[in-house]
Amino acid sequence: MASDLLHIDNLTVTVGGTIPLLNSITLSVKKGEVHVLMGPNGAGKSTLGNVLMGHPGYEIQQGSIHFDGQDITHLETEKRARLGLFFSFQNPEEIPGITLENFLRTSKSSITGVEENVFIFNLALKKIMKDLDMDPLYANRHLNVGFSGGEKKKSEILQLLALNPRLAILDETDSGLDVDAVRVVSQGIKQFHNPENSLLIITHNTKILQSIQADHVHVLVKGSLVASGDTSLIRRIEEEGYAPFLGQGGS
Ligand code: ADP
Ligand code: MG
Repeated sequence: MASDLLHIDNLTVTVGGTIPLLNSITLSVKKGEVHVLMGPNGAGKSTLGNVLMGHPGYEIQQGSIHFDGQDITHLETEKRARLGLFFSFQNPEEIPGITLENFLRTSKSSITGVEENVFIFNLALKKIMKDLDMDPLYANRHLNVGFSGGEKKKSEILQLLALNPRLAILDETDSGLDVDAVRVVSQGIKQFHNPENSLLIITHNTKILQSIQADHVHVLVKGSLVASGDTSLIRRIEEEGYAPFLGQGGS
């Protein structure tokens, strides 16, 4: 649909076989909206994030993905990033040999197509790191190497703020964080969000939503979206768990 920033239509995905990991998923995210995706372990939440980002390991059996009206179902990851898609990984990779600062500046230049000025970029980066309560020395460390779980997650939020995408998919960016770090990450997400961009937040921990109002909540079970609603759905899950939704999944 024209006004959707992201429109997933009847998407079925497999990997190396016939059993779908995602089953006829239809989901729309409009500009400015915040969507939350919940679901038990193994439901397919990370798979959806990977597929939206164009991970080559998955086979799309049917359906389509449109971003800002453009069919990106089979577009390469790099081109999706240039269009403004961002995926923060559940388990961020360690990349020895490239510093966090260099990685961010190169990514930003590659996305915008404009060579970032080192001095100006670093000034902006230091400011964001201060807001995230991150030691500026991390900028000179190799990407995620030796970072604690919490530091890796903060480095993902740093990427979010530095790259400023149009749609951010955050995959359990809050998991493994202490209460103070959750608050910092939540405030980082709030700082990022404006009426021009959108978020799809995959989470088990609703504390990440303390600084930001979610517009829609979706529940994924066994690769199928089994419920969508407002934030009252989160309260229901907190009280009753996923039991009421189980048995509704596809595969
Ligand atoms: P969630 O993020 O909801 O916990 P995942 O999307 O990580 O779940 O995984 C959903 C299911 O798909 C799991 O059973 C997982 O083992 C399987 N899966 C995901 N990616 C692959 C892959 N590349 N190869 C094989 N199985 C996969
Ligand atoms: Mg996952």
